[in-house]
Amino acid sequence: MECEGDDPPCGVCPACRKVLRDIHPDVITVRDPDHKNIAIEVLRSVRSDAYILPNEGRRKIYLFPDCALLDPKGQNVLLKVLEEGPPHAAFLFCAESSALLLPTIRSRCVEWRLSPPSQSSAADSDARQLCELLCTGKAADMAAFFARLENSKIEREALRLLLSDARDLVCAALAVSCGGSGNDPLLRQLVDRLGRRRLSVLADTLGDFIRQCGYNVGVGHLTGALTVALAP
Ligand SMILES: [Zn+2]
Repeated sequence: MECEGDDPPCGVCPACRKVLRDIHPDVITVRDPDHKNIAIEVLRSVRSDAYILPNEGRRKIYLFPDCALLDPKGQNVLLKVLEEGPPHAAFLFCAESSALLLPTIRSRCVEWRLSPPSQSSAADSDARQLCELLCTGKAADMAAFFARLENSKIEREALRLLLSDARDLVCAALAVSCGGSGNDPLLRQLVDRLGRRRLSVLADTLGDFIRQCGYNVGVGHLTGALTVALAP
């Protein structure tokens, strides 16, 4: 959001460097070391600060590193600014489980599931194969892959898990492309072959299909649409 480079997040422009060193004036980590939970006064000051224009960046970003420290009363203080706050304000709520946040907060958020890059080594072999196909970029191989899944009468839930694992790999590759660590050669291959922009589009696309797997849609319909959507 603050990157000034051509291919955000570039990780090397002055804005990215400030964010990564935790010294960007418009990227604010909300902490309250004096209390167990983040105090109401701290959240009230976040709420009024959000209306002040950014110092130098495009956006003003409030990062909550652990929503376990954000009790329901505190969350309610933020409700209005989340709903109708100024367009320059962005709020990132990090939580081990989205259930830590009130439904009223969650309904105003876009949920983005992350897993540590180290977990990717355990990802399902079909997900790895899918990622390899994304790297080689042959539409016919991709079509054969999804035809095989359909012929094996894969259930929607299994397809959802496969796509989640594939998206975890894509997100881990994105993290590697931003300077994160990852010893898995597949991650490196994804970064080198696809680049950050394509990886981020793929993460979104896979996220859409993961959601669709939660609806009552035929697996054949999903695999057909995936073949088209993931084609190079
Ligand atoms: Zn940048």
